[in-house]
Amino acid sequence: MTPGISPDQVRAVLAALAATYHGRGSVELGDPYKVLTATVISQRTREEQTTEVSSRVFARYPDVPALAAAEEGELFGLLIGCQYPEAKAPRLIAMAKILQEQYVGQVPNDLDALLALPGVGRKTANCVLIYAFSRPALCVDTHMHRITNRLGWVETKTPEQTEKALERVIPEDLWIGSNRLFLQHGRAVCRPGIPRCSRCPVRFGCAYGQDSETAKR
Ligand code: SF4
Repeated sequence: MTPGISPDQVRAVLAALAATYHGRGSVELGDPYKVLTATVISQRTREEQTTEVSSRVFARYPDVPALAAAEEGELFGLLIGCQYPEAKAPRLIAMAKILQEQYVGQVPNDLDALLALPGVGRKTANCVLIYAFSRPALCVDTHMHRITNRLGWVETKTPEQTEKALERVIPEDLWIGSNRLFLQHGRAVCRPGIPRCSRCPVRFGCAYGQDSETAKR
């Protein structure tokens, strides 16, 4: 726990974010195959493009066996619109083949097994645990990394460091759904560059918002 940050303060900030974003941090569980595949597609890609590309991919490859048997050039064509389709196409096929051969076509409900899949890093694996299996995990993207540093909850350089540090800051019962709240807040108010502190619902609990001259604008 960062000195001076109490669990009650963390709960107050997350409650204010939940109230502001009207349940948009709520978690909808999905088919593990679709959650995993869509999360890989979403890497470095905007949400609108992710939704569009994922819909095309799932219409053609509705399950693990179909994706494992995909022809790379055809999958590449369907992936156009997301970032790095040339890298994601072979990785997705390789991933599906491993699921087919080692997990009888199922997505494993296990962090280490997920991390061993091609194209799956900690953020993707944690998102799958949350959104496919309702497991408590911290899915730390660039928004969550930036905002929790500004809040003063962590002092870290990378999302991976932030994930480790936040495990000691955010009570575990609040892990699920926290990513969606920070995503909404990072897009609307606590943006990269200059944040909009004057309209922020959690300024009361924010080190940057309380201290910075920039934040007084
Ligand atoms: S007060 Fe400013 S820096 Fe702090 S969370 Fe709000 S917008 Fe971000």
